[in-house]
Amino acid sequence: MQVATIQFFPMRKTIAHQVHGGLTQTSKMPCKSYSLPTAACQTGAKMAEIEGSICSDCYADKGFYRLYAATIEPAQHARLVSLEDPLWVAAMASSIGSDPFFRWHDAGDLQGLWHLLLICAVCYLTPNTKHWLPTREYAMIKEFIAAGHEVPDNLSIRLSAMYPDVPVKVPASLQGIKGISTSNVHTKKNTDPTALGHICDAPTKNGECRDCRHCWGAEPVTYGLH
Ligand code: SF4
Repeated sequence: MQVATIQFFPMRKTIAHQVHGGLTQTSKMPCKSYSLPTAACQTGAKMAEIEGSICSDCYADKGFYRLYAATIEPAQHARLVSLEDPLWVAAMASSIGSDPFFRWHDAGDLQGLWHLLLICAVCYLTPNTKHWLPTREYAMIKEFIAAGHEVPDNLSIRLSAMYPDVPVKVPASLQGIKGISTSNVHTKKNTDPTALGHICDAPTKNGECRDCRHCWGAEPVTYGLH
């Protein structure tokens, strides 16, 4: 990525919102986040067809998301379309500003290498923010690394598990690369979830992260199956 060529003209928050379609704020997270429609998930759509996979029972297609689908889904689709707006990077960077943390894709996933490059550009333009990007698009991350790109210092990419209680197998080409980690999911049947990573304790804290910031760190994390 030619970081030096990125031009950034901070825009007013109302204008930025119009460009990217708005950020999201979940009750769990200590920061703003961002969502896209799960209908646009590429690997996720294939995994959703496989019984027992995490995507076959996607949390982003039920609960709060289902309850407010009439408003959430049109906004998510508008955000998807906005990715092609040449002002998208500047708009996202303007909205994130100097927030200490940001979470990408509380629903939805990467659309291609081009999309990951846009997100990296946002990371470079928001050096005071730690970004967390979960994804099941391992191939796009491999493509990114194979093309010689580096994960920005303030971005934690987490390869997300496909099945509960089955740890992510990091592809050989991504092993040991700074900024790339994993997130797993454990069931109540699992007798040793610590083997999958740091156990997310949000369920014991009214479903909130509170002071925990593990997901922005480098160690594997495991979440209880929703
Ligand atoms: S591990 Fe920590 S930061 Fe991550 S979701 Fe759970 S409580 Fe939040």
